[in-house]
Amino acid sequence: MKEVRRHPELLGGRVEEKQAGGGTRTHGRSLTRRVLCQLSYSGAPGMVVGATASAASPDESRSACDNRVVSVTGTHAERITAERARYVAPGATTPPLVVARAEGSRITDVDGRSYIDFAGGIGCQNIGHRHPAVVAAIKEQADHYLHQCFIVGTYEPYVELSRRLAELSPCGTGEQRTLLVNSGAEAVENAVKVARVATGRQAVVVFDNAFHGRTLLAMTMTSKVKPYKGGFGPFAPEVYRVSAPYPYRGISSDDAIAALEHLFKADVDPATVACVVLEPVQGEGGFITMPPDYLGRLTELCRAHGILYVDDEVQSGVGRTGTMWAVEQYQGAEPDILVFGKSIGGGLPLAGITGRAEIMDTVGPGRLGGTFGGNPLSCAAALAVLDVLAEDGFLARARELGSTLRGRLEAIAARHPEIGEVRGLGPMLAFEFAEQTHDRARALVETAFERGLVLLSCGLYGNVIRLLPPLNISAHDLEEGLAILETSIGA
Ligand code: PLP
Repeated sequence: MKEVRRHPELLGGRVEEKQAGGGTRTHGRSLTRRVLCQLSYSGAPGMVVGATASAASPDESRSACDNRVVSVTGTHAERITAERARYVAPGATTPPLVVARAEGSRITDVDGRSYIDFAGGIGCQNIGHRHPAVVAAIKEQADHYLHQCFIVGTYEPYVELSRRLAELSPCGTGEQRTLLVNSGAEAVENAVKVARVATGRQAVVVFDNAFHGRTLLAMTMTSKVKPYKGGFGPFAPEVYRVSAPYPYRGISSDDAIAALEHLFKADVDPATVACVVLEPVQGEGGFITMPPDYLGRLTELCRAHGILYVDDEVQSGVGRTGTMWAVEQYQGAEPDILVFGKSIGGGLPLAGITGRAEIMDTVGPGRLGGTFGGNPLSCAAALAVLDVLAEDGFLARARELGSTLRGRLEAIAARHPEIGEVRGLGPMLAFEFAEQTHDRARALVETAFERGLVLLSCGLYGNVIRLLPPLNISAHDLEEGLAILETSIGA
């Protein structure tokens, strides 16, 4: 086997190969290699490059998953991308962006190129990258202790965050309890665990176009075969799927309620259903926004059958829609358990569930938790995030951003008939290309990236462009980003 030594910092971004028969060969800045592969992260099918060509091979090559070709010259990004292809599992996304710094709504790559960020690490930077209050809170916490494990010792940031989340909870007015975990998928799974114990029932109802994560139960609950589910079965039992409203594609609230009633007649006895789990704005599914009446009607239906309503706000929460939680904007809607994640940690891994005490208290000591859930650094960061969101006028400005952005997107859509719908809630906005293929969205994401804008697509067909800029993005960056966006459509 060929031994490959890389000392890029010494070689100025070059890769040195030791040949089997002795001698070395060096690839440097002058080398243009074609680095190939399909980006498997469906959220950003356009941010595609992926490097499956072995760094040890200067030749043009293709792997089984390759379907795109991008020229990469000997930049720092090339070196790191090549190393990534060599050492990182290809099942994890392979984007062309190699980050050096991020601040507010800007990312700078390792070659000094600046990008406007409309992705926020998939909705995790609602208050911008490296918000000073978050960075200060993390540094201060780091001076005290990094890890404790809540199972071993109680620490105040966890308790204080739970208190703050109780105050903000949309789950009724009574006492609230919170469990903190590491990821959205883990939080979703814990919501189901609690719902099952609280009701003594097993079945879970989920919806078309849902995304709840990639662990076994969360993946089962997710509604997209490629890339999330294909080949990963068998799936968890007792998960039932039904249509959610999708007015642009002809499914109204009435249709969706009728579908649920049909499900309860045809497939699952509602008396055995522990919970329904729904995103108020389906994120990965295409920013499909539940109509104003639907969540209230769903709440009613759940109450009638003793079913718990789990509100998955991993993507739509923490101010993304202009209110703390999207569900607050739906009259008559009252979830029993809230699921949150992403932006709550300000960039650190944190997620969790908050629910009414009488539900959460049904699960006894030792039955929930994990080693790192509610890590002290993440809790400190989250407290700073909540402080920023509570600042006078922050959410009002987020709603203004929503109006501005919607106006701009509608104007863009009016000039581009290939765009079928602009939709969303507050500043959580997207547009869907009428054609149900990923071609236009993918091309747009790629072109925008080349021009300095990081964008994400989403949707079952990958034909939706979603905007997740920081809610406090400057007018200048917003305008620049939107200008790149529009000129990149069909370019
Ligand atoms: N739920 C929703 C609505 C999400 O958007 C996501 C992630 O995109 C998840 C759950 C899973 O979160 P994580 O990737 O942190 O496991």
